Amino acid sequence: MPIDSLNNSIICHQCGLLVNVPPLQDGCSANCPRCAKILTKRHRNALDHVLYFSISALFCLLYSVWFGFLEMSVQGQVRQITLMESVTTLFSLQEMALGTLMTVIIVGLPAIYVSLLIYLASGIKLKRVSRHSIDVLRVVGYVRFWNMCEIFFLGILVSMVKIAGLAHIEIGESFWAYAFFNFFLFAAVMHFDKVQLARAIRELTLQSEQKGIVSTHEATHVS
Ligand SMILES: [Zn+2]
Repeated sequence: MPIDSLNNSIICHQCGLLVNVPPLQDGCSANCPRCAKILTKRHRNALDHVLYFSISALFCLLYSVWFGFLEMSVQGQVRQITLMESVTTLFSLQEMALGTLMTVIIVGLPAIYVSLLIYLASGIKLKRVSRHSIDVLRVVGYVRFWNMCEIFFLGILVSMVKIAGLAHIEIGESFWAYAFFNFFLFAAVMHFDKVQLARAIRELTLQSEQKGIVSTHEATHVS
């Protein structure tokens, strides 16, 4: 949905219909009258949920980088790998492009994504937003599109099932941390609604601009 219009109009991505959506009550959603697609939803305590789930996700992501991810043993030989070793191994094999891509997918984009969610949610809660916050909201949309950490995690689960018959596998702390990271990120995204956040940013920006005008007038009268 476009997030920079100053009125209440939202374009349905499914059928292209321009729909006028008035401000919603908590727990209510707006559907497209033509194709019934949900255009926006105002979740209860959305900002709190986005903020706390994102902070939890970031903590789990950072935790998952430092400890053992998986331990495999085959015929008496034991090998433990960390999350970052799965990437540095690619660099040591001179697979620079693949290593860089994996670093971005596993840690880079997820870290940027949750950090931006924390920045936006905390900024709106503390009423510290500017017109640039809308740009940040747009960037969140782009990063979300390219964020593939859950696909990476599903790939690991499938690989574990495949090699379970060939080697004994033990799951490390880092694995659980990465699993919880995916869960918290999913929970944060479920409460994230771009349209509602854009409206909150616009309202706060307008309020601060009006306050600025009022205080300028007051200063003029005083002088
Ligand atoms: Zn529609």
